[in-house]
Amino acid sequence: MAEILVYVDHVAGAVHKPTLELLTLARRLGDPVAVALGNGAEGTAAVLAEHGAVKVLIADAPEFAEYLVVPKVDALQAAYEAVGPTAVLVPSSAEGKEIAARLAARIGSGIITDASDLENGADGPVATQSAFAASYTTKSRVSKGTPVITVKPNSAPVEAAPAAGTVEALAVTFSAQATGTKVTARAPRESTGRPELTEAAIVVSGGRGVGGADNFSIIETLADALGAAVGASRAAVDAGWYPHTNQVGQTGKSVSPQLYIASGISGAIQHRAGMQTSKTIVAINKDADAPIFDLVDYGVVGDLFEVVPQLTEAVKAHQG
Ligand SMILES: Cc1cc2nc3c(=O)[nH]c(=O)nc-3n(C[C@H](O)[C@H](O)[C@H](O)COP(=O)(O)OP(=O)(O)OC[C@H]3O[C@@H](n4cnc5c(N)ncnc54)[C@H](O)[C@@H]3O)c2cc1C
Repeated sequence: MAEILVYVDHVAGAVHKPTLELLTLARRLGDPVAVALGNGAEGTAAVLAEHGAVKVLIADAPEFAEYLVVPKVDALQAAYEAVGPTAVLVPSSAEGKEIAARLAARIGSGIITDASDLENGADGPVATQSAFAASYTTKSRVSKGTPVITVKPNSAPVEAAPAAGTVEALAVTFSAQATGTKVTARAPRESTGRPELTEAAIVVSGGRGVGGADNFSIIETLADALGAAVGASRAAVDAGWYPHTNQVGQTGKSVSPQLYIASGISGAIQHRAGMQTSKTIVAINKDADAPIFDLVDYGVVGDLFEVVPQLTEAVKAHQG
């Protein structure tokens, strides 16, 4: 059967959820062969096998941590040459997209980024993407070389599908460019205890209607009750009420959770661009004519200061 190379996103052996989602999609196309690099790579093998990896190629070297992406590109290219896959799948993080683009350029392949679904077409994988600020849904396939495709988080369910997961060492020779850009310092981001915005299954966002930085606590309280990440519109970010790292939209982050709850957000096209592919969209807005209501699955016309706390209480009561 065709082998599908899957680039593993992990920290010290803890595999991030989007990689497990990639394995679900890879299984639709062929036999997933995972590539795990850097510190803790070997520790990823068990969970990758549980989710369908027939083989796990591992490589560790100080270069992966000490330099920017090129050593990882060198390793993924080595895996590509060793396996001869029919497609290469990479998580759609900022780093993942850079690695994928560099690999595609090196091997002379076409690339598709930010796919939200993949199916097995007669002429290779067919990717679903949203285009033009999410106004269109497109289907496309790579017509040149081995398809390299980056896939957005939450594009597929995580499914157990035990496979051999045979661990093999990957031999990597680093290119001259590998050590060109050195990482000189690292500072861990202060943890909020909430899931990463782009990977979260549920996102609760607030906009200008929230009315101030302090009021964002009601958005956070609902998010915490749901185990969700917190997002914000650009108006809320520009007003200094919430950090830019939490901005959702065209000039912020693109999210595609199972559930997106927008509170006090009008639904400008630039905001929609970052959340329109969410599976279920709920909006709370006191203006019944707000454009956000054009795309919601469920809408509440009301004052968010009354609705959101009631919703939080209802969620907590449901959880018992
Ligand atoms: C190049 C460019 C890029 C941009 N990129 C982004 C981006 O990445 N992300 C983004 O979000 N925007 C972006 N914008 C800005 C975008 O055009 C809008 O200005 C912005 O999204 C509006 O934010 P908002 O919905 O919070 O505010 P508003 O449009 O002011 O809407 C506030 C809403 O809150 C409602 N409301 C008020 N009080 C309450 C209450 N008590 N209860 C319930 N509802 C209430 C109002 O009815 C209104 O609908 C961009 C703009 C440009 C030009």
